[in-house]
Amino acid sequence: MYTAKKIVKTVKTSDYLSDYGNVNSNLNYCMQCPNYNKNWACPVYDFNVEEVIKKFRNLDIYAVKIDFDKSDVGEKLPGEANAILKKSLNKEKRLLHNELLSKESARHNSKALIPNQCKLCNGCSRITGGNCVYPNKSRYSFEGFGGDLEKTASGIFNIPMKWVIDSKIPEYTIIFGGLLY
Ligand code: SF4
Repeated sequence: MYTAKKIVKTVKTSDYLSDYGNVNSNLNYCMQCPNYNKNWACPVYDFNVEEVIKKFRNLDIYAVKIDFDKSDVGEKLPGEANAILKKSLNKEKRLLHNELLSKESARHNSKALIPNQCKLCNGCSRITGGNCVYPNKSRYSFEGFGGDLEKTASGIFNIPMKWVIDSKIPEYTIIFGGLLY
């Protein structure tokens, strides 16, 4: 079991780009991710991220803090850790993805940014060179758009970021999504 708490903060995109967005250095993190260039939500993009962001005045940042059950925290066997993470992170990412799509459809000229890679399909078609299967529902990744997650967590939400590393479950972690408008 786990608990999830969502917090939403609004920032000016110009402030976010100057204080928290470092598209080039964060791209280096993306390049180390197994989804790099293998999921349509993730880099490599055929457009300039900063130019897209600058078309919008504001960014609502959605942070979902996931507190893991005390009994799940700590070193686990890989299979056990995966089961715990699937139950919590994947579910919360799906919920946030859907919520952001609703927010986007409710607000004229807005663009949702989803947490991490798109998980709508069992294996993204980008891997095999196909087009996106659900272009109406898939969106670009919040991380892929260059926000520094550690700075965002501590500077905007006042919560230090904690990562899931290998099979070690932290006390909590945070997933992020956004709405540009
Ligand atoms: S909808 Fe499917 S094909 Fe499109 S980005 Fe998501 S996982 Fe990939």
